[in-house]
Amino acid sequence: MAAPGLRLGAERLFAVPAVLELLSRSNSTSQAFPEVLRLPKQQLRKLLYPLQEVERFLAPDRRQDLHLRIFDPSPEDIARADNVFTATEGNRIDYVSSAVRIDHAPDLPRPEVCFIGRSNVGKSSLIKALFSLAPEVEVRVSKKPGHTKKMNFFKVGKHFTVVDMPGYGYRAPEDFVDMVETYLKERRNLKRTFLLVDSVVGIQKTDNIAIEMCEEFALPYVIVLTKIDKSSKGHLLKQVLQIQKFVNTKTQGCFPQLFPVSSVTFSGIHLLRSFIASVTGNLD
Ligand code: GDP
Repeated sequence: MAAPGLRLGAERLFAVPAVLELLSRSNSTSQAFPEVLRLPKQQLRKLLYPLQEVERFLAPDRRQDLHLRIFDPSPEDIARADNVFTATEGNRIDYVSSAVRIDHAPDLPRPEVCFIGRSNVGKSSLIKALFSLAPEVEVRVSKKPGHTKKMNFFKVGKHFTVVDMPGYGYRAPEDFVDMVETYLKERRNLKRTFLLVDSVVGIQKTDNIAIEMCEEFALPYVIVLTKIDKSSKGHLLKQVLQIQKFVNTKTQGCFPQLFPVSSVTFSGIHLLRSFIASVTGNLD
């Protein structure tokens, strides 16, 4: 892991031999790191560090409000995380099973991370983007709200399990209480909960219920801001500042750094992969 606070200039990415060695081991699939590295510098920065891109539009005295580099992986770590998410014969990435109740959940010994959020927040699209280096994994992307009503389990090689939880806000609270709450309370190997918030509309009432639940169960969780390609820079900046203030003043268990992403432009996806690899012990 990179030392906290280390500033990572995009240009450093081009100058690290270890990264190139790691890259030669990974497949050159869509949005894999080798292709990413060929992007012009500004585009590269926007893709890898969307929050730092937002920072440029902030007055210097407001910059300290944003925790931009608490998680600041080295280029080698980003490449290693991409390798973890790349399907190969020795690193099978598969859908395992679905469950409607925690006692039907597969008994998987690996560390686990889960994704929760309101219906339509962009959860399936995000999981699909995270798994873009394993194109055979099928993640259903719904057109209708409430499509994902089961917990879907995906294993990432021998590394960890990703769980796609049913969206709340539609048919909630039944689904939510029966599945999400029980899962969050009882799943012993759950390492991190990723709580998705739509960056266009910000934190909504139902998001607050999920936040309160994570706080009540003292779970370590992270706020991921979805659909950042949909807003103007000004609107995104306003939302980021508002949500950051909320995290700074109203939460205990929330990781202080926000993770903005777009499943359309892939902005923030590599950083999120690195964070998941890190919290599951795969970048140690
Ligand atoms: P879920 O219900 O949370 O699984 O949400 P989906 O992933 O099905 O997304 C809901 C809608 O938002 C779909 O029409 C997606 O195409 C759209 N969407 C999801 N992520 C993004 C994104 O990053 N950018 C944009 N522009 N649209 C997105």
